[in-house]
Order: sequence, then structure tokens, then C-alpha cells
Amino acid sequence: MNNFLSSDQLSGLIQAAYIIAGVLFIFALAGLSKHETAKRGNMFGMSGMGLALVATLVLAARNSQTLANQRPLAVTLGLVVVAMVIGGAIGAWRARTVEMTQMPELVAMLHSFVGAAAVLVGYNSYLEPGSETTGSLAAIHSAEVFLGVFIGAVTFTGSIVAFMKLSARMKSSPLVLPQRHKLNALILLVSAVLMVMFMTNHQSSAIVPLAIMTALALFLGFHLVAAIGGGDMPVVVSMLNSYSGWAAAAAGFMLNNDLLIITGSLVGASGAILSYIMCQAMNRSFISVIMGGFGSDGAVSGEEKDYGEHRETTAAEVAELLASAQSVVITPGYGMAVAQAQYPVAEMTAKLRAKGVNVRFGIHPVAGRLPGHMNVLLAEAKVPYDIVLEMDEINEDFPETDVVLVIGANDTVNPAANEDPSSPIAGMPVLEVWKAHDVIVFKRSMATGYAGVQNPLFFRENTSMLFGDAKERVDDIVRALG
Ligand code: NDP
Repeated sequence: MNNFLSSDQLSGLIQAAYIIAGVLFIFALAGLSKHETAKRGNMFGMSGMGLALVATLVLAARNSQTLANQRPLAVTLGLVVVAMVIGGAIGAWRARTVEMTQMPELVAMLHSFVGAAAVLVGYNSYLEPGSETTGSLAAIHSAEVFLGVFIGAVTFTGSIVAFMKLSARMKSSPLVLPQRHKLNALILLVSAVLMVMFMTNHQSSAIVPLAIMTALALFLGFHLVAAIGGGDMPVVVSMLNSYSGWAAAAAGFMLNNDLLIITGSLVGASGAILSYIMCQAMNRSFISVIMGGFGSDGAVSGEEKDYGEHRETTAAEVAELLASAQSVVITPGYGMAVAQAQYPVAEMTAKLRAKGVNVRFGIHPVAGRLPGHMNVLLAEAKVPYDIVLEMDEINEDFPETDVVLVIGANDTVNPAANEDPSSPIAGMPVLEVWKAHDVIVFKRSMATGYAGVQNPLFFRENTSMLFGDAKERVDDIVRALG
């Protein structure tokens, strides 16, 4: 390779490729911010990643040659290709088999890999710093290693706990240890002291403060996420997304890799913005989220309350009600994703619109199990974008709505969030569906939603329950509509 280009020219080309890849990632994020341009955004992202991979392979090849021929080029490339084939095969298999409803847990799992990678890169960079660094450069390198390992370790265990909570391998209720905030603060304080010890110790014993901090950070990650209750998990997932970005950026500093710094910062910043937006949507404080300090401390679940009797209805009755309605709002939730009911829902919508009924969708920002979950499903089923409205756009229209169809949603339409200050979801803005003339709730039982909170909506006078799998019931309605 060096026969064609000098080492400097090659470095220049690699840097140029990294900058182009960075710009493509920015275009990808811009594209992903709207339904209409999301596909294009993904294409930009894929092209950027392809370019980055090629440039990194070339870099690895060049580095292996400059290592005084310690390792033959073929061995370096062979190792990289083997790792890529194994990783790519696992990734392709997971991407093909994962259900849409399992996406958040998969994303949480992937975040844990980024965290683990940052920890490993940190230790590697400490044990084998590459070129000898002295003076202030050495101090900067030590700080990078320490912070990279810290963020990586918090991300690693935090993401594993998020994965276990989202996949129901761990209870979604918050773990409330005594003095938990003080405990977190103490860990931060001790870690700061350990950082000073690490940075001022130039002997091999410096690994001791690094190792103690790693253990503390692993516990902190576990504790921060375990302390957060079911309904608040969406913010945690986006927060871990942000942490994983910062962990990658830290690894970029340690490896002197500009692209990793750019990509990590993009992920970190966009994750932080998403967390902020989610906090606003959930009416939670951003700072207390970062501190892992929110959740449902001391709140009563409301499950024991007696709300009276609920009413049941049939698909035929609902079809009749819909056919005679003027305005209908559909508020989908996680159950629509589980049942894969979006296709019959789209068909029912088309039939009602053909009959002149004004049908619209009201989407809660945390409906489902990942941000934008419902929008993705409805777009997949080709529901027109212009009738899919955000919660704030539709909430005022419920009093003038004839029928609301709550399809597999529960926490996001729970009036207790507005009315019961002792509820774990108190203060979270919800779709105020109960203000409509008639409300039909599609679900299989009287079970609670993700937050584990009973829903008084089901017992209101204008609410009727349509029990069963959401897809089957909507199919029944489509047939009854003729
Ligand atoms: P919920 O999880 O509150 O409720 C879903 C409802 O769907 C359940 O009550 C369930 O009742 C019903 N359901 C399940 N399967 C079916 C089926 N096959 N057919 C019909 N109904 C079904 O959903 P929401 O979307 O309202 O709320 C989302 C919750 O998830 C919030 O608490 C949110 O904080 C949390 N969350 C959101 C994330 C995000 O980023 N969006 C991430 C992590 C958590 P039944 O079993 O009786 O059928």
C-alpha cells in the first residue's frame, strides 16, 4: 500500500474519510428526525459507517506495518476480518429475528457492549499507552483512561439492568435502598479521590485506584437504573443511549481516533437531547434523572383501590358505534405492537374514512417500549402521516370526540396520573381519552400496564372493555364494517 502512497498521504486520506463519515452521520441524524426522510437518513448512516470501516481497516493495516513488522499484515487483517464476520453474523441474525416489541431490550443490550468496550479500551490504554507520554500529556491520558473506564462501567451495568427490566427478567418496580442518594453521592466523591490518586501515582500500583473505581462504577450503574420504576424506564433507556455515546467518545480520546470522538459525541448529545425531551413529556426533572433519583419513592400503587364494576362490549357493537360516529380518535399502545394489530387498524381506519368518519391517531411520547414505537408501526402499515398527531396536538380535542379506541394502551391513558398524587405515575401527562363521549378499551384482561398501576379509566361510565387479542378484535370490527 505504501508503494503507492506515502505514509503522510495515507494518513491524510484516512482523516479525510473520517471527516466525510462524520458529516454523513450528521446527515443521518438530520434525516432520522422526520418520518419522510428517515429512510434517506439511514442510507447516509450506513454509507458513513461503511466508509469508516474501510478507513479503519486501512489504518489497522498501516499500523501493523509500522510496528517494525512485529505482526504480518495478513495476520492483522485476518484477525479484523474474523472479528467482523463473527460480529456481523450475530448482528444479522439478531436483526432478522428480533420482534419489534423486543427492540428496546436489544438496544439496551447493545449499549452494554459499548460500555464494556470503553472499559476494556481504558485498561488496554493504561497498560499499553502506545508512545511514551510525559508531563501534562501523561496527566491528560490518565484522566481520559479514568473517565472512560468510569463512564463505560456505569453504562455497562446500567444497560444490563435496563435489559433485564425491559425483558421482564427483573421486576420493574424500583429498588429503594436506604439513603440511596447519599450512597450515590459517596461513590462519586470516593471516585473523585481515586482519580486524584490514579493521576498522581506513576508506579504500577496506580492500577489499584483504577480497579477500585471500576468496581464502584459497576455498582453505581446497577444502582442508578435498579432504583428507577417501570413507568420511568423510557427516560433511562435514552439516558443510557447518551452515556454509551460519551463512553465511545472517551474511547476515541484514548485511541486517538477522531471519528470515534465525533460519533460518540453525536450519540451522547442526541441521547441527552432525547432524554431531555422525554423528561419534559413525562414531567420529570432532567437533573434528578441523571442522578438516578426519580422513580416512585413512597408512592402507593393504587392497585388495592376499589373502582367498582367495568362494562364489556362486543366487536359488533363497536362497529355500529364507529359507523355512526363523526369523529374517532385511536390511541395505540404497547398492546398494539404485541398483537401486531397495526395492519387491521390501518384497514379499519381506511374503511371508516371511506364512510366519511374523521379518524385520527393520538400518540403519547412514551407509548410502546421505545421512542417513536407507535409512529414506526403506523408508518409500516401505511397510515397517512397527517392523521397521526402528537399528544399535545390532540388532547384538547377529546371533549368533541365521539369515540376513542384505546388499542393496547394503558399507562399512557391513565387518569390517575392527573388525579391521584399518590400514584407512581402522578404528574406524567397522559392522553385525556376519558373526556370523549365513548371510550372502548382493547385488551386481554384487567391486568395493569408496564408501570404496574391500576387504571381507573376502565371503570368509568363512558368506558367499555373489548377483551381479547387486539388484532383479532380489530379484524372482527373490520369484518362487521363490511
Ligand atoms: P402499557 O404497557 O401501559 O400497557 C399495554 C397494555 O396492552 C397492557 O395493559 C396489556 O393488557 C395490553 N396488551 C398486551 N398485549 C395485548 C394484545 N395482544 N392484545 C391486546 N392488548 C394487549 O402500554 P402504553 O403504551 O400505554 O404505555 C407504555 C409504558 O411503557 C409506559 O409506562 C412507559 O413509561 C413504558 N415504557 C416506554 C418506553 C418507551 O420508550 N416508549 C420504554 C420503556 C418503558 P393485557 O395484558 O390485559 O392484554
